[in-house]
Amino acid sequence: MNTNNNQPATAVLLYHRMGWPKLGSLVAGQYVVPGLFKSQLNYLTTQEWSATLLADAVAQCKSGKPETRNQYCVTFDDGYLSVYEHACPALVDCGARATIYVVASCVGGINDWDRKAGDQEERMMTAAQVRELADNGFEIGSHTLTHPRLTEIDDDQLQRELIDSKHRLEDIIGKPVESFSYPYGDYDGRVLQAAIAAGYTNAVGTRLGVMVSSTALFEIPRINVRWNAIAPLLERKITRAMKASGFNR
Ligand SMILES: [Zn+2]
Repeated sequence: MNTNNNQPATAVLLYHRMGWPKLGSLVAGQYVVPGLFKSQLNYLTTQEWSATLLADAVAQCKSGKPETRNQYCVTFDDGYLSVYEHACPALVDCGARATIYVVASCVGGINDWDRKAGDQEERMMTAAQVRELADNGFEIGSHTLTHPRLTEIDDDQLQRELIDSKHRLEDIIGKPVESFSYPYGDYDGRVLQAAIAAGYTNAVGTRLGVMVSSTALFEIPRINVRWNAIAPLLERKITRAMKASGFNR
């Protein structure tokens, strides 16, 4: 059996919102309380996982000189204000940074796509907050303009979602936006090719797995961290992700 046992892994963690779930939320499992988030960072450090930025892990993959240690990257989808308020300061305290995938048309507003589906309202980061994070070493990626299912829209709309969001975010932060996150982890060959053509250099999905030197850079797997992921559960989840990527430990 072909296994990845001898190489280090990069666990790309996916978070959404910080705080206690709002009453009536359709995605209550997506809230992580700040105390749990901090304990997860501490736990990973004690297990000798080192924090790195996804952009740096991608660069290591491309250089053909991957890290020699296990490492983890923190990513946030959507760009919620609660992430700016609670998660980003906790990361800075640990000397770590993260990649934040922002829904470009919702900056300074609310989660319109969730509201349309009947979910509770959440405030999103403002343009000034997104810029401040980018200036402080956080990576800003695109999570489209309006958070559609990309496999269900036509080519023109797909281009707008990929290209206009990239340009809008680049105007906010004054630097290139290179990473993309597929809403709902929904993509196919057409979407993937369009993301490449739009000028991104990598993209993340929601398939469970870890990143290794042979990972396809437009299909980077992630580990979805939910409200209940106390240390033993987080560890089990990472082990499952490693098995899914061919590790046999
Ligand atoms: Zn999303």
